[in-house]
Amino acid sequence: MSPLLHPRGIERLVTGQPTQDGAGVKLTRVLTQDLQQRLDPFLMLDNFASDNPDDYGAGFPSHPHRGFETVSYMLNGRMRHKDSAGHEGLVTDGGVQWMTAGRGVIHSEMPEQQDGVMEGFQLWLNLPGKDKMCAPWYRDIQSPEIPEYTTDDGVTVRVIAGESAGVAGAVQRAHTEPLYLDLHFPEGGGHFSQPLPAGHNAFVYVYRGEVSVAGTPVARQRMAILANEGDGVALQAGGAARALLIAGRPLREPIAQYGPFVMNTRDELIQAVEDFQSGRLA
Ligand code: MN
Repeated sequence: MSPLLHPRGIERLVTGQPTQDGAGVKLTRVLTQDLQQRLDPFLMLDNFASDNPDDYGAGFPSHPHRGFETVSYMLNGRMRHKDSAGHEGLVTDGGVQWMTAGRGVIHSEMPEQQDGVMEGFQLWLNLPGKDKMCAPWYRDIQSPEIPEYTTDDGVTVRVIAGESAGVAGAVQRAHTEPLYLDLHFPEGGGHFSQPLPAGHNAFVYVYRGEVSVAGTPVARQRMAILANEGDGVALQAGGAARALLIAGRPLREPIAQYGPFVMNTRDELIQAVEDFQSGRLA
């Protein structure tokens, strides 16, 4: 692991907002709409975690998307995806589902469990304006297919997207160059550093234990927005901990969102709603 000369500091610590989505699924919205410009190209991060089926059982019945990508990472549980482009898949413990909505899909994301823990994340990644109307794309990546490695400190690094220490992730994207790492620090703690390209927006979300970013502690269920000055990020844990490290190249385009549609302009949103209502979205 190459040492960093100038690790990025924390610009801001964010506490997620409890909310509900789909058919009343309780979740924590970590990356909210007011942070979309700051964390461009990322539009949303939800964390769902419950052992009560009343919180998740109704799932996310049929609904549309246009103009961006959704990345679902399931830590525990079983969720079935079906969409209007003919894709179907089951995402289970440790697996990822990557969907490019492009010009439009109508899909459902429904739990396939009556009890037990359901825990995971959904990240929304924007598409550049020139790709917003591309053909929909879908891939599910089962847990064993996600590349991972272990550092000398015993930190397990799951490389969902991008590249870390020469290990290529499961998914690569040309324009937004997303980096999506799931870091598992062992009982004895450890150190992890990752170079980040200058200008890429980046954040860390801690979901077990506590992790320090450039010496500042970040508690569980907090997101640390990283300052853009510096050559990478240096993380330290004193004990067992888990965190997501997410970074990407900003698109620097206008962001117009209306619910499940994310375009560049209001006119494009109106078109999306009309297309959906008239059955022409997907
Ligand atoms: Mn959806």
